[in-house]
Amino acid sequence: MNAGAYGTPQPRQPVQQMAYICAACGSENTIKPREPIRCQDCGHRIMYKKRTRRMVQFEAR
Ligand SMILES: [Zn+2]
Repeated sequence: MNAGAYGTPQPRQPVQQMAYICAACGSENTIKPREPIRCQDCGHRIMYKKRTRRMVQFEAR
């Protein structure tokens, strides 16, 4: 029995990872919130969120 278990680190703490799609090469990258957004494949820094509810597309009229 552990008394005074304040601040006990939870072993299974779900890390929220966001899936991003590289704008340059289209590679899927899983990036943690504290990690800088950068494609691990080509090093591009512009990425799109994969889990978007709506795809914003610009179509030519
Ligand atoms: Zn890339």
